[in-house]
Amino acid sequence: MQKLLENQVALITGASSGIGFGVATSLAEAGASVVINYYSQPEPAEALAAEIIRAGGAAIAVKADVSDPQQVDALFEACRTRFGTVDIVVANSGLQKDASFVEMTLRDWNAVLNVNLTGQFLTAQAAVREFLRRGARPVSKALGKIICMSSVHQVIPWAGHINYAASKGGVQMMMQTLAQEVAPQRIRVNSIAPGAIKTPINKDAWESPEALQRLLKLIPYGRVGEPDDIGKAAVWLASDESDYVTGTTLFVDGGMTLYPGFEDNG
Ligand code: NAD
Repeated sequence: MQKLLENQVALITGASSGIGFGVATSLAEAGASVVINYYSQPEPAEALAAEIIRAGGAAIAVKADVSDPQQVDALFEACRTRFGTVDIVVANSGLQKDASFVEMTLRDWNAVLNVNLTGQFLTAQAAVREFLRRGARPVSKALGKIICMSSVHQVIPWAGHINYAASKGGVQMMMQTLAQEVAPQRIRVNSIAPGAIKTPINKDAWESPEALQRLLKLIPYGRVGEPDDIGKAAVWLASDESDYVTGTTLFVDGGMTLYPGFEDNG
């Protein structure tokens, strides 16, 4: 049986851990050749590439800092050199540097905005340029697909994390504006907004039983998410099964955005 993403090439940024690692795994299982971008951890990225190749797929791991335009260009050049082009781009890299509003330094504000928002801008821009350069391919109805990794914090304010929440709010409007601009070229742009997914970024929120209990109060569906939950959503958004979907945020959050505090009449 033909796999959903057969003969397509996918680039996933920040894929040496957590959600990116899970998304790269799922896209490879769906038949895509994958470019696994990492920033600081070559070992898990190389190990994932080796695992995908062992399973009969194709993959490479490539180092790049997504907040640096030259490194983003080099990352796309690596896609072209190894696979000729790229069809699916998942702008996933992100980080948190938390502090109360009065204590937040400009350095930490900029560090988060530079990766979470500017990094996604640079990645999406390089993707659109590449899709337009190479033109249509018979592998998909769309010229190309971009998935931005947002967060429930594109809509839920988050005290103590103002840089992160602002970056994700920015991702929402960037994604929609870009989707509007490139839809006539048949480029689809969507976001996934994860709720609480078990990854290194939020270890403090699920590692101890007490923290986990507090977290579960925010999740009506009663479990913390896994990277695989996001991977499956990414496969659908990257495939022709969602060909009429663009400019949309798919919340994958176990109901976190359903105002669980109002469950018992507020
Ligand atoms: P993570 O820390 O495991 O992954 C983040 C990845 O981004 C890491 O691999 C890191 O190396 C990479 N990265 C950081 N700076 C980079 C840079 N300058 N260039 C390239 N890569 C860089 O955490 P995660 O939870 O897997 O986060 C992935 C994405 O999902 C982030 O955008 C995050 O905001 C988002 N998200 C996560 C959750 C969650 O609950 N885990 C919820 C909502 C949104």
